Amino acid sequence: MIERLCIIGVGLMGGSLALALRDAGYVSHVTGCGRSQANLDAALKLNIIDSATTDPAKAVADADVVLLAVPVGQVGALCKTIRPHLQDSAVLTDVGSVKADVVRQVEAAFGEIPENFVPGHPIAGTERSGAEAAFADLYKNRKVLLTPLTQTSADAVNQVQAMWQAAGAEVEQMSVTHHDEILATTSHLPHMLAFGLVDSLARQKDYAEIFRYAAGGFRDFTRIASSDPVMWRDICIHNRSAILKAMDRYQADLEIIRQAIDSGDDKALLEIFTRAKSARDKYAQ
Ligand code: NAP
Repeated sequence: MIERLCIIGVGLMGGSLALALRDAGYVSHVTGCGRSQANLDAALKLNIIDSATTDPAKAVADADVVLLAVPVGQVGALCKTIRPHLQDSAVLTDVGSVKADVVRQVEAAFGEIPENFVPGHPIAGTERSGAEAAFADLYKNRKVLLTPLTQTSADAVNQVQAMWQAAGAEVEQMSVTHHDEILATTSHLPHMLAFGLVDSLARQKDYAEIFRYAAGGFRDFTRIASSDPVMWRDICIHNRSAILKAMDRYQADLEIIRQAIDSGDDKALLEIFTRAKSARDKYAQ
């Protein structure tokens, strides 16, 4: 059980964890911290948090566990602010979609990697943002990846693992580098494709006509282009090399499809689509 949980960034991810832990009776008091009073007021009204403040130093002062659930570009500045106010025993964790750069920011802010810092990333989400987007079932049967470092204490890892399990998630561990490479291909690349496609079409003169006749496939493929632009700007800047590697590989493979279409190579097209369908069918089972 957590006596006092502090969530910095009461949006989709932070708010959903608070709701899940409250439903499970796993937390006694949740303090929410954010920049805008309006979002904190919404979180209070929705019973996501018990108390609210816009001052991160105040928010963490009596917390047993502190969760950073803000866009990844904000982590360093926030850690510098909260560092002098954290209890020695407080466990610090996060939900950032990028891990190496979050670890780098935390290390720079603390002057070392704190032994109570457990980097984490839930593989769950939606394209919606803010406290009003939060829901208690977000993490049910979803994976949460923890990427502890050699400095991380086993006790802190166990506490964070138990917290996610109480929220209904399955917890796995992997290295920071492996995490960033895998997520660049399975999450960051698809977001680049969705944002890129919608932007490219939206800039065409007859875009209203194009969108009017777009069917379910277009809606499915582009849902994630409604995600928060600030969050995705930060992910791109903070996982630059892994995303570039994934994009380069994809661009080369797309060029193969382009060439097959250009040369009317029906055999090559059928081979690629059959291979892709079989892989997708297997994944979706
Ligand atoms: P979100 O719904 O926009 O919530 C982020 C919250 O952080 C906002 O409510 C914002 O409120 C607050 N915030 C932003 N900067 C802050 C600061 N400097 N100090 C205090 N509060 C601040 O975003 P989210 O989807 O929950 O994403 C949060 C994190 O989860 C990101 O790091 C993202 O990479 C990660 N993640 C997201 C998903 C997903 O599908 N969305 C999945 C996995 C991981 P104010 O503007 O009022 O301050």
